[in-house]
Amino acid sequence: MPSHRRPTPHRPRAGPRIKKAQAAKVILAALKLMRRPVSAYEIQASLSDRFHLAPPTIYRALDMLMDEGLVHKIQSLNAFVACRHVGHADRTAFAICTECGSVMEICGSGIDAILESCSHQLGFELHESNVELHGACKKCSTSEKVRSD
Ligand SMILES: [Zn+2]
Ligand SMILES: [Zn+2]
Repeated sequence: MPSHRRPTPHRPRAGPRIKKAQAAKVILAALKLMRRPVSAYEIQASLSDRFHLAPPTIYRALDMLMDEGLVHKIQSLNAFVACRHVGHADRTAFAICTECGSVMEICGSGIDAILESCSHQLGFELHESNVELHGACKKCSTSEKVRSD
């Protein structure tokens, strides 16, 4: 059975409209290629030559990806990153470099247990947490030291 590939690819100027599940797939692929968190607008722009993605479609797709634990939102930046340790049950924290914009996901650090126990002591029922550290990554803090020497 030959493949269904067309001999000459059909390339519409403004890409085809796509549905949520397909949007989620292309958004996740795009996020995995990015080394820094990106906004919904940047996602739209980066895919605009291939797909027409309306903002509501992007947000619905991102919600779906976040529910599945495949994407996280960096609240302080209003931006999104692909999860680097897919399948973790723990809450994560993010170390955000204010120099280069890179974000590292902190997993398995016991943050979960600390937040749970602090909440418990207050009689507070924890539903969601958002731990974001702002500073300089190893590369940026090292190059800063080199510069100031
Ligand atoms: Zn994650
Ligand atoms: Zn950095």
